[in-house]
Amino acid sequence: MPVCQEKRPKILVIGSINMDMVARIDHIPLPGETVLGQGYSFAPGGKGANAAVAAARLGGCVAFAGCVGDDSYGQALRKTLTDEGVDDRLLRTAQDAPTGYAPILVQAGGENSIIVFPGANRSIRPEDVPAMFREPVDAVMMQLEIPTEIVLLASREAEARGIPVILDAGPACSFPLEEMRGLSIVSPNETETMALTGLPVDSEAEARAAARALRERSHGADVVLKMGARGAYLLTKDFESMVPAFPVEAVDTTAAGDTFTAAMTVAYLRGEPLERAVRYGCAAGALATTRLGAQPSLPTAAEVEAFLRARE
Ligand code: ADP
Repeated sequence: MPVCQEKRPKILVIGSINMDMVARIDHIPLPGETVLGQGYSFAPGGKGANAAVAAARLGGCVAFAGCVGDDSYGQALRKTLTDEGVDDRLLRTAQDAPTGYAPILVQAGGENSIIVFPGANRSIRPEDVPAMFREPVDAVMMQLEIPTEIVLLASREAEARGIPVILDAGPACSFPLEEMRGLSIVSPNETETMALTGLPVDSEAEARAAARALRERSHGADVVLKMGARGAYLLTKDFESMVPAFPVEAVDTTAAGDTFTAAMTVAYLRGEPLERAVRYGCAAGALATTRLGAQPSLPTAAEVEAFLRARE
């Protein structure tokens, strides 16, 4: 268990953890076709683990709760967490499923195609949840790559203890947001917003309407819509505004959203007003887009602070 200085915000991330396999190919094979790939590499991923590592690099004192399989990927992923100073005592090794695995096919000049095998991420059990709350934390961060039942149950456990919940509402799915409890901030991107509300987010006016719908469905949570290169739309009880993105030379937007939410959470828990915390999230998200991959691209607090200083 890493020793946490008093000042560092304590964050419990309950979420997914996967081994990603990034393969570079000319084109996706058609049924029955075999193609030669250019190369492949393995990298730790999963929205939960990305958020945990991002929050740790940005100065959070982070515990990760989830499940890996009893296999070499699971061992490797556990080590990547502990190497980053993330507390892995709530990462259970399940016997009934392999570690989550995600082949990512990167086509020359094309969109990425991703297959996610959730594997052990589906093995988090309801009876595991109360133990996740044995030690006090300042906030719980979750995403939607683990069973809905677990996310809802954890939100009730958090609410019962007065712990704020920050939900990164991805990947896109129809999730019963109104059943969440203790929700402090909900943060989907454009497609996730569409999946949750049925509303498009192509303009600031549409973002405003969608944010209001989300706020209502989440019983008054603050809403932070992630809008890629445009930035983020923030709606709180007494504040509503577009927070612009920082223009950068983006090379790979993988994990920009995971980084953004983690950074915003760390800054918010340090006591910054949410508007400033969102700006900090935009800086971290922008930095993540300037590098390839998920976890390798996650910036440190020193990098985000230098980035912001250079733009003041
Ligand atoms: P997701 O990865 O969940 O789709 P976004 O793409 O909206 O989320 O990215 C999250 C945040 O990262 C954005 O709100 C923005 O601040 C920053 N960001 C993402 N893409 C870019 C980009 N191309 N240029 C600058 N900032 C970006």
